[in-house]
Amino acid sequence: MDRYDVIVSGAGPAGAQAAFRCASAGLRTVLLERNVLPRHKCCAGGVLGRAQAKAELQLPDELVEQRIRNFAVAWDGHREIFPLSGEVAAIVRRERLDHFLVKRAENAGAEVLEGTTSLRAREESDGVAVNTSGGKMTADALIVAEGCTSRLASSLFGPYPGRRMAMGMALECEFGSSPEDAMEVHFIDTPTVRPYSKVIFPLNGWMFPHRMGGNVGVVGQAVTAADLRRTTERILKDCGERYGGTMSRSPVTAHPIPLYPRDRVHSRRTLLIGDAAGFANPITGEGMSYAFESANLAASAVEGMLLNGKDLDVYAAGCRRRILNDLSSAVLLGPVLHWLLGKVELSSFFGQVKSDDGIMGACAGIARGESDWRGLFGRMAPRTIPYLLLNSRLIRGKA
Ligand SMILES: Cc1cc2nc3c(=O)[nH]c(=O)nc-3n(C[C@H](O)[C@H](O)[C@H](O)COP(=O)(O)OP(=O)(O)OC[C@H]3O[C@@H](n4cnc5c(N)ncnc54)[C@H](O)[C@@H]3O)c2cc1C
Repeated sequence: MDRYDVIVSGAGPAGAQAAFRCASAGLRTVLLERNVLPRHKCCAGGVLGRAQAKAELQLPDELVEQRIRNFAVAWDGHREIFPLSGEVAAIVRRERLDHFLVKRAENAGAEVLEGTTSLRAREESDGVAVNTSGGKMTADALIVAEGCTSRLASSLFGPYPGRRMAMGMALECEFGSSPEDAMEVHFIDTPTVRPYSKVIFPLNGWMFPHRMGGNVGVVGQAVTAADLRRTTERILKDCGERYGGTMSRSPVTAHPIPLYPRDRVHSRRTLLIGDAAGFANPITGEGMSYAFESANLAASAVEGMLLNGKDLDVYAAGCRRRILNDLSSAVLLGPVLHWLLGKVELSSFFGQVKSDDGIMGACAGIARGESDWRGLFGRMAPRTIPYLLLNSRLIRGKA
């Protein structure tokens, strides 16, 4: 039976980063992936600057479809573009990014076992035993990075409630001409009727540009597959008309996004990271920066346990400081933003936002990792009420 310092189960961004960090620290590390790589992952492929920073990633040009310097919103046949000061994100194809990250972990010394599924895990007095499709192995610690449908996470920490997930759908396509370097968000069901309704993630979509095409999709909570499919097709049609026609397209795929962190993210020898821990942004659905951050924290916690005999509580404390504070601001801000967008006349409102350097700077700062959602919350709160009172023409019906 093989014995390791640490077993990492799941080779998405979280698992590959954790394996890279553990192997770089000299730990005997194995990374298990049930698929053969490269494998498809349903995702929009937006890697924010802050995610790149947390993963210490210099994305090579051949991996990048577009470097993003603008942001755009589209609604009811309107479109507004927001120029940002410099690059804030890169768009990639996930199968290529994830493969690149796994190779990086392998080059750092991690053993990678593709086509190997983790089936069961049991914590024992001197370690953790994992049964896989390739046999049994043991280690001092287990990092579970299997995404939000992780069976190991459910069996060890209880099931993740389905009502806490949003569902996303995406496809990739080629257009007749090259799209602008703007991440484009399509407001579909925003505004929500009232803040703090049970639906914290209303149906919204995107087109993230590639060199000659893009990634088109939608995500929403409590929506049907038919809604997702119909809306995806509508956005594809709009964008195709703007960019010289849709020349080819992939089939759609769908995948859930966790909207709430799990209550517990570690036990004595096991840590949950990335989507398996429920770490994704409840306003944007963005998950890679939390995947990388939690992977870094988990790798340091395991190193501390193995080298200095510390317990894994340090991981929960790190998550609270570096992830949960940011997510809880987003949880508060999300419904307010959706409510606000339902109250204002959107063209004028976006015009005001565009001319407000403080808010624009806070948005670009979030994307680059220079500030977090609390910064935007702090900037928007004192401005929101004066906006509504002083610009009555912004309020729908009073124009
Ligand atoms: C439609 C959609 C669009 C999104 N767009 C963005 C975006 O633009 N930017 C962004 O930052 N985030 C985006 N996200 C979120 C992002 O995809 C996730 O947050 C991110 O993939 C989480 O990484 P992870 O490593 O935790 O999990 P995953 O990427 O899900 O990786 C988990 C890995 O574990 C493997 N695995 C599962 N079970 C087992 C097992 N039993 N044994 C072995 N291996 C196993 C899986 O095959 C997979 O490779 C999007 C999500 C969706 C659904």
